[in-house]
Amino acid sequence: MNQESLSKMTESTTSRLILVSNRLPLQLVEEDDKVTIKQSDGGLVTALKSYFEEESTKGTFQQKIWVGAADFPEKRWLKLDQNNSDFKVEPLFMDKKIYNKYYNGFCNATIWPLFHYVPSYVVYDQDFFENYELANQLFADHLLKIIKPGDTIWIHDYQLFLVPGLIREKMPEATIGFFLHIPFPSFEIFRLLHRPWKEKIIRGLLGADLIGFHTHEYVQHFLKSVRMVMGYDHQYRVIAFENRIVKADLFPLGIDFKRFNSSTKRPAVLEARNSILKNFPKKKIIFSVDRLDYTKGVTHRLSGYERFLTLHPEWLEKVVFILVVVPSRQIISKYNERRKLIEEQVGSINGKYSTLSWQPIIYRYSQIDFDELCALYQTADVALITPLRDGMNLVAKEYVACAVHQGVLILSELAGAANELGEALQVNPMDANEVASAIHQALTMPLAEQLYKLNSMQKRLSDYDVVSWVNDFLNQLLEVKNQQHSEERKYVTSSIRKEIVRNFRQAKTRNLLLDYDGTLVPFARYPREAMPDKNLLKLLATLGSDTRNNLTIISGRDASILAEWFKDVPVNLVAEHGAVIKRVQQDWTLEREIDQSWKPLLRPTLEMFTKRSPRSFIEEKNHTLAWHYRNVEPELGFIRSRELLDSLFHLIRNGQLQVIDGNKVIEIRAAGIDKGVAAKKLIDETNSDFILVVGDDKTDEDMFRSLADRALTIKVGPGHSSAKYSVSNQMEIIKLLHDFAE
Ligand code: UDP
Repeated sequence: MNQESLSKMTESTTSRLILVSNRLPLQLVEEDDKVTIKQSDGGLVTALKSYFEEESTKGTFQQKIWVGAADFPEKRWLKLDQNNSDFKVEPLFMDKKIYNKYYNGFCNATIWPLFHYVPSYVVYDQDFFENYELANQLFADHLLKIIKPGDTIWIHDYQLFLVPGLIREKMPEATIGFFLHIPFPSFEIFRLLHRPWKEKIIRGLLGADLIGFHTHEYVQHFLKSVRMVMGYDHQYRVIAFENRIVKADLFPLGIDFKRFNSSTKRPAVLEARNSILKNFPKKKIIFSVDRLDYTKGVTHRLSGYERFLTLHPEWLEKVVFILVVVPSRQIISKYNERRKLIEEQVGSINGKYSTLSWQPIIYRYSQIDFDELCALYQTADVALITPLRDGMNLVAKEYVACAVHQGVLILSELAGAANELGEALQVNPMDANEVASAIHQALTMPLAEQLYKLNSMQKRLSDYDVVSWVNDFLNQLLEVKNQQHSEERKYVTSSIRKEIVRNFRQAKTRNLLLDYDGTLVPFARYPREAMPDKNLLKLLATLGSDTRNNLTIISGRDASILAEWFKDVPVNLVAEHGAVIKRVQQDWTLEREIDQSWKPLLRPTLEMFTKRSPRSFIEEKNHTLAWHYRNVEPELGFIRSRELLDSLFHLIRNGQLQVIDGNKVIEIRAAGIDKGVAAKKLIDETNSDFILVVGDDKTDEDMFRSLADRALTIKVGPGHSSAKYSVSNQMEIIKLLHDFAE
């Protein structure tokens, strides 16, 4: 979908875009008692600024509002003239003590190290977490005063995990997107958080409609955590969560490609470039720039560079490494320790290798402005970007965009950007030998090869730049919203329900065909445990004893168990998906002579899978073999079930048997028997003027399809279905049956 369709989709709404991030992307400048806003460089705002500029000509959103915590006093804010801003700003003024424990505490001393795979740095402090909750609540309260129906809310990053859920609680209809700018770690790492913290984080995130990550891997990690922490599965990255679908997907953050790529033409950049070249005549330049952070791998990088100098003395005095470190999070001790370590190592390498006319490392600890940064990108023969973990790493992308004439990117395989920058020389940042050899390879790479690699990467970065990134995210958010609405349209609302009950009451004879598991009772760990309780039996007995009703339970279960459970209820029973039928006060009838000789042939395969998948089991019914994997560790269960399906499809080639991929169960039975055939047969035996069919599983779809023109069909639970209506859970069906019985 393009920008035009996005505009069309949103034109009927108020269409305001509300961006939410921890910090506001601006500074206040006070001159002659007048305060104005200066937008900060870098980070999210630079990314979004170009989108805003393009967007303002398209007019998709009537207004753009940015909400974030202010790092300036409220009294200065009140003097502000907001006119020269691309977006309206709604600052949140937070108590400094809360902010400190929330931001420097839980955000940057707990989540940051953990999500970047440094568990040994993680601080576990309940007080930090409570302040994180409090700060998220303050954000949500502030937002709730601003949000109007129809707004699109886009929340950014790990500081605000709980905000989507807090808003959803108060505004169930809100359109909420969330994007995570750091990695989402594997479950083995995520699980190290205290249980209530984990649950609150996942629940908070699931308050969003769309959750975006930089890479496919992070999406998979998140989905696994959702499953392990909350028990919710996904289908093609869509989670059915409390009456709503939530999608998780990847959106690799892009850069403002044009801005960097065309910086070659800026006079200030040219000037800075010439001055760098003059300072290092006839030297090859290696360059890196990072915020001061232990995740950036600067000390490992220095070791790699030192190894290079040792292994390749031919490069001594011919190469210089310009290492820029940008101050960051100075209040946290781990960051200051890191600075010391870096400076000691720089001193040691320079001390060891420098000559009177040459120094191997030029180290700088400061911010650099855009022009100088671009000049450095352009003069660098090699960019050495080797974080130990990085959600994305924009520096790598910016370098590629700026390297117009020449250049080689050496990139850590542990940066999110490595997924898109396959042509870079990718290295394991921990391995000094590998880094050293990549530097040598980069310095000796023929120009034609450099340009070929750069061109391929540049094309990709220009195709999916930051504007495409924003459009892609917002389009998908609207698509999720549309999908939610189209599913809602099928929900049995209270008026539809009244109508169904009225039709039921007016009918002279009625046929009710009800699936059992997942429709009349919830799933249990083992099939035997899901027995009907007294209330359900009473309800069915009341319905069954009304002579106008023809009540049928149609199940995949074995005949014997259905007969045992429903022996006192006047109800037709259909077992094993229609293989045998028991009409009220009659005996079981076999619908067709069924060959059973296949069972001993296939059983060993199921047994092998049972051994390989702890807590799975085989259920043998008269005409069916079923392999249940509900209790297996979900990831393993899913993989094993796919493998079993694959094996069965190879074993069963004669068309006599069919394999059904059910809800955490794989069933094998004779072909030609299904609930659709059985349901049709029973319906044809009676001439009723009200037919209701209810089910939850794939096998019930056969009934929905075969009776589509005659019956009122209801699917229980989420997911696509050919049923006319749907309800969110099995309790809704019980309520409906009670209404019938009254
Ligand atoms: N950058 C900056 N000031 C500087 C040097 C760099 O704002 O003095 C910018 C740089 O251009 C890049 C961003 O900071 O856009 C760093 O993003 P990256 O994803 O590489 O790392 P992060 O700091 O977000 O972890």
